[in-house]
Amino acid sequence: MKAHDGFYIDGAWHPAPDRDTIDVVNPADEQIIAQVPAGTAADVDTAVRAARAALPAWAATPPADRAERLAALRDVLAARKDEIAETVTAELGSPLAFSQAVHAAVPLAVAASYAELAATHSFEEKVGNSTVLHEPVGVVGAITPWNYPLHQIVAKAAPALAAGCTVVLKPAEDTPLTAQLFAEAVHEAQFPAGVFNLVTGLGPVAGQALAEHPGVDLVSFTGSTAVGRQIGATAAGAVKKVALELGGKSANVILPSADLAKAVNVGVANVMSNSGQTCSAWTRMLVHTSQYEEAVELAATAAAKYGDRIGPVVNAKQQARVRSYIRKGIAEGARLIAGGLESPREQGWYVSPTVFADVRPEMTIAQEEIFGPVLSIIRYEDEDDALRIANGTVYGLAGAVWAGEESEAVAFARRMETGQVDINGGRFNPLAPFGGYKHSGIGRELGTHGLTEYLQTKSLQF
Ligand code: NAP
Ligand code: MG
Repeated sequence: MKAHDGFYIDGAWHPAPDRDTIDVVNPADEQIIAQVPAGTAADVDTAVRAARAALPAWAATPPADRAERLAALRDVLAARKDEIAETVTAELGSPLAFSQAVHAAVPLAVAASYAELAATHSFEEKVGNSTVLHEPVGVVGAITPWNYPLHQIVAKAAPALAAGCTVVLKPAEDTPLTAQLFAEAVHEAQFPAGVFNLVTGLGPVAGQALAEHPGVDLVSFTGSTAVGRQIGATAAGAVKKVALELGGKSANVILPSADLAKAVNVGVANVMSNSGQTCSAWTRMLVHTSQYEEAVELAATAAAKYGDRIGPVVNAKQQARVRSYIRKGIAEGARLIAGGLESPREQGWYVSPTVFADVRPEMTIAQEEIFGPVLSIIRYEDEDDALRIANGTVYGLAGAVWAGEESEAVAFARRMETGQVDINGGRFNPLAPFGGYKHSGIGRELGTHGLTEYLQTKSLQF
């Protein structure tokens, strides 16, 4: 795999031959495929200075011109979509078809949505005798995870750039090649120098330096709750805006009137896709006691189909972490009905698609984010019981409700403490705000809501 031996700062690649390097490893065969430099606090400082220097001109660029650059970026990403899919497959391990359909295609849709929004959003409004200006917040420090490497970058960079902010990105150490490819795309799309900058590196070094840098006005982070909490505290200390997209433990609520087979099959697919490494995955399936055994059988059959189709998880640490949760589920007395501790392959960081039945809501596997292909099926007695279980975790990122009538599902969804709910298997909408209630985060990504995260208001009175 092609890799740059430097950082993309101020419109050019700056070689960093004397830095420590990070090995990029293919999780499917554990082979090293490339190396990238590990940025230091000094590298982050150089990037932030470039972003600050570029800010006044970019902020003053008419939104229509910013929209043109974003449209060019969308076109470059479209032209390079095969390369994107291959790169994500190489460093994340996801099957190529999934990389094409999701890892390459979704960021395209999001980039396109911000090309459009930059052109059409009202950056000025009248309120009585005032004119309210929606101005860019400033320099954005973006820290992204590896699970949807390009989507996580585009979901921050595209709205930030549309808003007139400038960006310094610190991507996950496991997936830096996709980030380098994105920087190339920004370059090809002819954004002015310094508007977007990339420093690869380790979280506690480059990531922390970025989050703490006084020249950063807003930190947008997606990842674990532990790191998010720390970044939020640092930002509060500096009176800095922060957006946090953290974990989830979402409920897939199947009401008795639902099409049970469809709800179970879609629910299993939702958890197994991307090897379970999706923060919004519906990892708790809630089934009425009268349909419970039927649902368990359907889920076991559905999970077995994924046995040889599932990709690996991202690294050895995640594999060990997911397995420790499977061990915990067994120890806590849940009934293993598919998968388990055995790996489906000898080489690579694979985890068997795993389903637990007889999971009680208070068990560890029903409370903590596992981030692997592990589903818990939980029994409920009536609708209030289902609601108590659905809302009974610290998280609130996503969820699903299935019912015979849409209105019945909607009535239940209104009572859920969560940021996004799919009704009877609703489709992904790149314009719908995405983000968490409770410990799942602060702020929203995507669409107009995602754009306004990067804006601050100034009112002029007449
Ligand atoms: P993580 O450590 O929170 O990583 C997210 C990003 O933050 C990465 O770029 C990481 O860099 C960086 N980072 C780490 N420590 C930092 C610090 N002290 N200051 C600033 N930035 C820092 O997550 P992880 O270790 O990859 O995964 C652990 C668990 O987090 C998963 O099992 C899962 O439960 C959860 N997770 C959630 C999401 C989500 O979408 N909400 C995504 C990924 C993971 P490095 O890559 O160098 O660590
Ligand atoms: Mg980490």
